[in-house]
Amino acid sequence: MDACSRCQLACPSCPTGRRENAKGIVGWGALSLQDFISFCERHPHVRHIELSNWGELFLNPELVPMMRYAHEHGILLNARNGANLNTVRQEVLAALVQHRFHVLSVSLDGASQETYAQYRRNGDFDRVIAHVKTINEHKARARSRYPCFAGSSSSCATTHTRSRRQRRWRKRSAWNSGPSNAGTLPWRP
Ligand code: SF4
Repeated sequence: MDACSRCQLACPSCPTGRRENAKGIVGWGALSLQDFISFCERHPHVRHIELSNWGELFLNPELVPMMRYAHEHGILLNARNGANLNTVRQEVLAALVQHRFHVLSVSLDGASQETYAQYRRNGDFDRVIAHVKTINEHKARARSRYPCFAGSSSSCATTHTRSRRQRRWRKRSAWNSGPSNAGTLPWRP
């Protein structure tokens, strides 16, 4: 399910980033809370829902009540396909932990603004890192391992040449903090 098919970035190899999807069948919009609940009610056997696909799920303004509903109904939410994590309200960062969002794959290319912005155009590397740290602080306070972080990056010369630096950074920044979390989702660049 696509929580949002819009995106604020302009990654060069992405049809959403090039705004091509906006004119096609995918469109340019956000899943409504009402449609999300209606889907869950009509398909009670569905226990896992992937929310990321063509756009940036954090641009969906109704993500918090969606997470609350899913948690209360025993449905695991994932964003394994990826989120750029550039634009997220503080209440959403807290709700990810509170409502035990399951797996969050952060699309992070490069280990500095200079390398990151070559692919994640319009993105802010430091802001993404700040959001990861805030989520980890909430996880530590709640003594929770959720959301588990997974990493993804695009295949390009720049990110490959910087991958060693990125691995060092990941080690330093305790990417996946929280009880028993280390090693659950290995980093596979
Ligand atoms: S962040 Fe993801 S959805 Fe947005 S333009 Fe880049 S690849 Fe496409």
